[in-house]
Amino acid sequence: GSTLEIKNLHVTIEGNQILKGVNLTIKGGEFHAIMGPNGTGKSTLASAIMGHPKFEITEGEVFLDGKNVLEMEVDERARAGMFLGMQYPSEISGVTTSDFLRSSINARREEGDEISLMKFIKEMDNVLDFLEIDKNMAQRYLNEGFSGGEKKRNEILQLMLIKPEIAILDEIDSGLDIDALKVVSKGINKMRDDNFGCLIITHYQRLLNYITPDKVHVMMQGRVVKSGGPELAQRLESEGYDWIKEELGIED
Ligand code: ADP
Ligand code: MG
Ligand code: MG
Repeated sequence: GSTLEIKNLHVTIEGNQILKGVNLTIKGGEFHAIMGPNGTGKSTLASAIMGHPKFEITEGEVFLDGKNVLEMEVDERARAGMFLGMQYPSEISGVTTSDFLRSSINARREEGDEISLMKFIKEMDNVLDFLEIDKNMAQRYLNEGFSGGEKKRNEILQLMLIKPEIAILDEIDSGLDIDALKVVSKGINKMRDDNFGCLIITHYQRLLNYITPDKVHVMMQGRVVKSGGPELAQRLESEGYDWIKEELGIED
């Protein structure tokens, strides 16, 4: 499996220091969760790793299997096996979900080894069934007019078909009703494999009732301030974040 190493990552947005030295290593086969209050830089971490131009990396490094991710173009990062499920997936008018998926799959394959249309449709139909997604969605423009829940299911559809080595899922649970939450969790759990590592960013513990992370990290004020096992998420659910602030002497 692949290993993603984030070392001392510092990120600014429009001159504001948001990440102040994030360290994290995710190996193939591992599920990590990052929790933390709003505005602590969780989405910034995800976007910076995937190369969003708005986020300036002022210090630190990111490696995928020893290769310097920060030197890769954005599309190279995806080809190298990295996937971002965004908190707010954007609408792409003029590109159907099906076309988007097929070209994303082929982008990760060698020229001349593209997936056949027949095989693609079969695989896509299987995953659509598994995720209880209406087949018509595949022919609609990506995310255009999708409900919040449909966008999140669509992110998992992408995840399951693109089969990345490392995925970062940013608030994949936000705005989901309980049935959609179960389906999304079922999809993520199905991905569990030695060749797949996942960073699950969530504001709520709820998702972690369905997906058991190997490690839980708490992010505050631009740093990972505490790490533990699943019990850490449960304690946050019952006690909030104040006890960590007290423990670490963090002021609001
Ligand atoms: P989280 O995902 O933990 O809620 P974010 O990473 O979205 O936090 O935001 C961290 C901080 O960065 C916040 O103070 C937010 O206002 C700021 N921020 C995020 N995105 C932008 C942006 N595009 N432009 C300016 N500031 C931003
Ligand atoms: Mg966020
Ligand atoms: Mg995506």
